[in-house]
Amino acid sequence: MGYKKPSFIENIAEKIGLIPNLHKINSDGNMDQEFDDDMRHFSDEEVAQMYENFPPPEKWDNWVEYDPKVWPKKKKTTYQIVPTTCFNCESACGLTAFIDKETQVVKKFEGNPHHPGSRGRLCAKGPATINQINDPDRILFPLKRKGKRGEGEWERITWDEALDTIAARIRKAIKEDRHNEIAYHVGRPGHEKFMNWILQGWGIDGHNSHTNICSSGARFGYNLWYGYDRPSPDHANAKFILLISAHLESGHYFNPHAQRIIEGKMKGAKLATMDPRLSNTASMSDYWLPTYPGTEAAVLLAMALIILEEGLYNREYLENWTNWQEYLKALHSDKKVTFENYIAAMIEEYKEFTPEFAEKESGVKAETIIEIAHLIGEAGERFASHNWRAAGASNLGGWAVARCLHFLTVLTGAVGAKGGTSPNSWNKFSPTQPNPPKPQKQWNELHFPKEYPLAFFEMSQLLPHFLKEGRGKMDVYFTRVFNPVWTYPDGFTWMEMFMDESKIGLHAALTPIWSETAFYADFVLPMGLASERHDINSYATHGGTWVAFRQPVLREAARRNGSPVEFTYQANPGEVWEEDEFWIELSWKIDPDGSMGIRKHFESPYRPGKKIKIGEYYQYIFERVPGLPKVAKEEGLTELEYMQKYGTFEIEKGESYKMNETLLTEEELHGTEVDSITNVIRKNGKDIGVMINGKAMVGFPTPSRKNEFYSQTMVDWKWPEYATPTYIKSHIHLDNLDKSKGEYVLVPTFRLPTLIHSRSGNAKWLMEISNRNPIWMHPDDAAKWEFKTGDLVKMNTDIGYFIDKVWVTQSMKPGVVACSHHLGRWKRPQDKDGNRWATNTVNIESDGKGGWKMNTISGVKPFESSDKDSKRIFWKDGGVHQNITHAVHPDPISGMHCWHQKVRIEKPASGEKYGDIFVDTNKSHEIYKEWLSMSRPAPGPNGERRPLWFKRAFKPDISTYYIDKKED
Ligand code: SF4
Repeated sequence: MGYKKPSFIENIAEKIGLIPNLHKINSDGNMDQEFDDDMRHFSDEEVAQMYENFPPPEKWDNWVEYDPKVWPKKKKTTYQIVPTTCFNCESACGLTAFIDKETQVVKKFEGNPHHPGSRGRLCAKGPATINQINDPDRILFPLKRKGKRGEGEWERITWDEALDTIAARIRKAIKEDRHNEIAYHVGRPGHEKFMNWILQGWGIDGHNSHTNICSSGARFGYNLWYGYDRPSPDHANAKFILLISAHLESGHYFNPHAQRIIEGKMKGAKLATMDPRLSNTASMSDYWLPTYPGTEAAVLLAMALIILEEGLYNREYLENWTNWQEYLKALHSDKKVTFENYIAAMIEEYKEFTPEFAEKESGVKAETIIEIAHLIGEAGERFASHNWRAAGASNLGGWAVARCLHFLTVLTGAVGAKGGTSPNSWNKFSPTQPNPPKPQKQWNELHFPKEYPLAFFEMSQLLPHFLKEGRGKMDVYFTRVFNPVWTYPDGFTWMEMFMDESKIGLHAALTPIWSETAFYADFVLPMGLASERHDINSYATHGGTWVAFRQPVLREAARRNGSPVEFTYQANPGEVWEEDEFWIELSWKIDPDGSMGIRKHFESPYRPGKKIKIGEYYQYIFERVPGLPKVAKEEGLTELEYMQKYGTFEIEKGESYKMNETLLTEEELHGTEVDSITNVIRKNGKDIGVMINGKAMVGFPTPSRKNEFYSQTMVDWKWPEYATPTYIKSHIHLDNLDKSKGEYVLVPTFRLPTLIHSRSGNAKWLMEISNRNPIWMHPDDAAKWEFKTGDLVKMNTDIGYFIDKVWVTQSMKPGVVACSHHLGRWKRPQDKDGNRWATNTVNIESDGKGGWKMNTISGVKPFESSDKDSKRIFWKDGGVHQNITHAVHPDPISGMHCWHQKVRIEKPASGEKYGDIFVDTNKSHEIYKEWLSMSRPAPGPNGERRPLWFKRAFKPDISTYYIDKKED
């Protein structure tokens, strides 16, 4: 698919000057979109004017509006407006809560125009926060299970009872040196470094995360190149934007990125999207590249080859900022170490990646690949790109997609450039906390086992299999806004693990909602939504840096009104609390007299020996935000008061380009030595920079301090075949499918832009928009199978099957089928009502030998509640739970779960019904072992568990990085 002609509406809008004329006839008589380097569509002032109708902050304590619900009557309501941030994805867009001043009830949420990331705009999920806080099914008080785990009986308890029970158990485990039996497993994070402070304060290696089912594939690919694991594209200033998957529509940093992609397009940038599905993003793009899943790297390498062969690369950047000398010495020792030989060697290395080869692999036309390669080459430093989940999260070797994408960024010299793609750490604030603990002297092999030394995050998806094999147990296991029974692959194996008290001693679910995982908890501890909790946020949404403050808005209103509360649950609905205060109280109770060395980390930095208050924690951090003390002082406010008032602070407006070229200061250079071969600058045994053309620069945090085209790390850790950027054929490559048997690839990962994993089931507006997840199928495939929209289809996976309905659509690449994530929520008859806008009632049966069946008893139904809309539910179909029928597929290198499924499509047998599910957990364990056997375990060089230069979540003490000879 190529260039799109302007629509009728675009033509009119351009003619009357509503938007810039992007389709001028150029001197060749062609209509062409021209990139206007100088044109900025809206200045900061103009953007500010757009929000002139938004109440100015000086009126936020007394804002009067007419109530639209009683129109045409004119009833005035006076609001207090309190800023916070959205919690419905990672972007943390700025929200403002409108609180009825008289009743102290939150009436609505709007965007916060002062937030530099979201600039007042929200996606549908932001305003829907009001649904979540008013959801009639929400959990309002701490609960403890009655009867056996999973039976569905609960009793209300006090927070003190929960804290005392859990603290005693943790204290005992730590005292008995069973540190690795305590774990905190997080789904949606949302605060910066808070849990490092807590868990490292306890001295445990207890952090586990969802990252290996989410983004660790892409992170690994980026990290290999330049030591940073996330990209921060400068879309607004780009000339060409390449997205792997649907970032404009629903991807990472959805709203902040989407508005800047459009801003870039308004200036004339071209947009290309690689996605087998015609997503909303693809439909808004200049080029849709419907690659066969898993072949993206082949297309990217073909583009790289064109750029190299045609000399479209940035010579200066490649010469200065890639480790080409190391590459030639290692892999081409017969050649002289010259730049020309470097280019020639790369061309030789990638010669098989012709556009025709890429077309054969991906199905994207060779001429389109050539056209885009030229546009990327022409864009030069202004080439912005992003790959997060999607291809990187779905394929065996998916991490190679990010590595090959970054290769293009390196070739064009766009790394860290204006309009290019920076490392995210350059656009992110990192807080300084009071009484910081030292790194823990523990290494938990249930999280980072020896088999996966390069795994970028914890092997969380394998935990139930590790416990099944007897590798350990969990004595106290926290799930925090985390629902693995439903979100993860192989949910029945998770259920088996939770049901076995010898494997999980105590399970505390910290959650704002009922979930399939909370049903199997011992304690269900209700935690606040976006407007009911404290967190600090800072994300790389664009070329600039900001910090935002998520705060409990009713607590803040009470403070402003002169009635401050001690704990957040005193201001929230029921006794809904927040994690921050919960963890501080729990830490204090674990070590009440300070004898375990834990308590000291949680003492006030202002009142020695006393327990820290939540306000003190944030005041301490905000005092250290660059620039904030001065600005707050000008308003006569403390730093905390400033953040309570505005909710956000812009640290840096967008000058953080090319930070690798930052010169080392004289003080930093004092006592350093320069490696005569690599030019790396060392001080006290640590690499701190690199000499570039006679100048001492900080460079990148890799062994060479440069972008590593050649990775000695991959060689040292037993993967020499992947020393340079490579295309790895996925587990669902066409070579691995037997079409004659009805085998297809299922893309199960895509998001609907209005849904949020487990957390939109409590948002009625969102569920009204999207409430089922059929199988997307191209008309050619549907004709072959004689399917029409609405027909039942049986999707057989490695370990079982699910029965869904077909949706015939031209938006799907032929030969590929897809099913959206987020739907198919369920509860059993004995479970508490929760998320009834989204939830099917199901029957689950086990044969006691690993066979599990699930059938739908009833779909979504209207119900009586305090919300009149609950009687008006018109949809019946809550979708089908597909993930539970997937086996674990851990990539042997990055550790990322490879989501794409080889499925065998067939028509259901008579009697098989919509929503029927079957899984054999014995098979799932066999498949776990199959994938495990692909790994190449530690130790690496010097007996290391993991490369020392690799990042690691909650990095432990360096002494833990070496495998004991006895263990080896
Ligand atoms: S993109 Fe949407 S869901 Fe994500 S933080 Fe912003 S408003 Fe919330």
